[in-house]
Amino acid sequence: MFPADAPAADRAAPGAPPEERPDLMVVGLGPAGASAAAAAASAGCRVLAVDRRRRIGEPVQCAEFVSSAFSIEDFSWEGIATQRIVRMVTAVQAERPRVSEDFRGRMICRSAFDQALARRAAAAGAHIRLGVAVCEVRADGGVRLSSGEFIRPRALVGADGPRSRVGAAIGQSNRQLVAARQFTVGLRQPYEATDIFLSSAYPGGYAWLFPKGSAANLGVGVDFHRRDRLKSLLRDLHARLAAEARVQAAPPSSTTGGLIPVGGRLRAIGALGAVSALLAGDAAGLTHPVTGAGIEAAVYSGVLAGRAVASWLAGHGNALQEYENDLSDLYDPAYARALGRRRELRRGFGRGVSAAEALWRGWIASPEYWADAAGPSPEVAARPPRNPLMA
Ligand SMILES: Cc1cc2nc3c(=O)[nH]c(=O)nc-3n(C[C@H](O)[C@H](O)[C@H](O)COP(=O)(O)OP(=O)(O)OC[C@H]3O[C@@H](n4cnc5c(N)ncnc54)[C@H](O)[C@@H]3O)c2cc1C
Repeated sequence: MFPADAPAADRAAPGAPPEERPDLMVVGLGPAGASAAAAAASAGCRVLAVDRRRRIGEPVQCAEFVSSAFSIEDFSWEGIATQRIVRMVTAVQAERPRVSEDFRGRMICRSAFDQALARRAAAAGAHIRLGVAVCEVRADGGVRLSSGEFIRPRALVGADGPRSRVGAAIGQSNRQLVAARQFTVGLRQPYEATDIFLSSAYPGGYAWLFPKGSAANLGVGVDFHRRDRLKSLLRDLHARLAAEARVQAAPPSSTTGGLIPVGGRLRAIGALGAVSALLAGDAAGLTHPVTGAGIEAAVYSGVLAGRAVASWLAGHGNALQEYENDLSDLYDPAYARALGRRRELRRGFGRGVSAAEALWRGWIASPEYWADAAGPSPEVAARPPRNPLMA
C-alpha cells in the first residue's frame, strides 16, 4: 500500500522554489500540525505548513482544559496556563452534584498555546504560511492552494481538523460528530473545578463550565443532527446559572463553537500515488469519544507523525506502519472503553435504568465507567495516560 522506500532521488526539481517541492507539507496549524511541523523540521526535513486562518488559534474553538498528565518537552506554560483545576464536579439531571478529586489539570489560553507551538515549528525551520487554504488534495498527492499554487510534496500530514481534506483523500473521514457552542461568561466568585452537566437534554454530549480567572467558558455539545438546539440550550443554561448566582447575568462574549469527532480513531496512514499521507489530531479521530478532549492527543500524534515522516524519508520503510501501531497502542484501549460506554448509554435509556443512572455510568467520573470484567482495574485505568514523548 505504501511506496516501499523514501524516494531519495526525488528531491526538489532544479530551479523550483523549495516550497513547491517540500519534503513534507502539513495542512493545518493547530496543535497537531504545529507539532508535526516542528518534529519533522527538527529532524532536517524541508517543511511547508499552511493554515487557512490568518491568525493561528483564533477564534478559539475550545473549552481550554488540559489534564495535569499533559507535558511537553522544553515548553514554557508561562502566559499560557491561566489557572489550576483541582477537581471535577458532575451534575446529573437535577441530582446533587458529585465531586471527584481525581481530575486535576490546568486551563490554558488556547490561542497563546497554538501560537507558541507554531513558533516552535518556525524556529525549527518549518516554513509557515497563513491565510492559505488547501482546496484540493489530488489522488497523486498534489495539493492545490487557495492562492492558486500547486504543491507536490513527498509526504503530507493532514492536521486539518475534524473534516480533514487529507483524510477524505485517503478514504478516512470522521462520521460521528458532536456539535458544540460556547461563550465566555463572568464568574461571580473564583472557582477551581471543571463543572460537567449531564442531561437527557444534551443527547450525545454534555454541558460544561470551565473557569479561567474572573471568567469561564460555558458550553454545550450535542449530537451533530441535533445542533439546531444548541443556541437555546446554552441560553437556558446561562440563565439558570445566573439565577443561581454562579455567573454574571450580563450578556456573554466571544460566542464560538465547533465540531468534535466522537466515533473513535481512524486509520492514520495512506498513500496518494508516491506520496505518503498521515493524519494527526482530530483529522485522525483522536478525540476522546466521551469527553471530547483532544489537545493532548493532537500534540502527541503530531510529534509522532513528524518523526515518522522524517524516518520514512531517511529510508525506513516501516516508519509509517509504526506510527499507526503507536497510535493504536496509545489510544485504542481507552477509546474502545469510551465507545462502549457511549453505546451502553444509548441502550440504557428506557430499559429500566433511570436516565440519571445511565448518564452517570457513561461518564468518566463514575466508578461504573471503569468497571468491567475484561478491562484494566479502575486503579490501572485511572492512571494518567503515558506521555509517548517521554518514553
Ligand atoms: C467547543 C470545543 C471545546 C473543546 N474543549 C476541549 C478541551 O477543553 N480540552 C481538550 O483537550 N480538547 C477540547 N476540544 C477538542 C480540541 O479543541 C481538539 O481536539 C484540538 O483542537 C485538535 O487539534 P488539531 O490540531 O487536530 O485540530 P485543530 O485545532 O482543529 O486545527 C486544525 C487547523 O486546520 C486548519 N484547516 C482546516 N482545514 C484547512 C484547509 N483546507 N486548509 C488549510 N488549513 C485548514 C484550521 O484552520 C485549523 O487551524 C474542544 C473542541 C471544541 C470544538
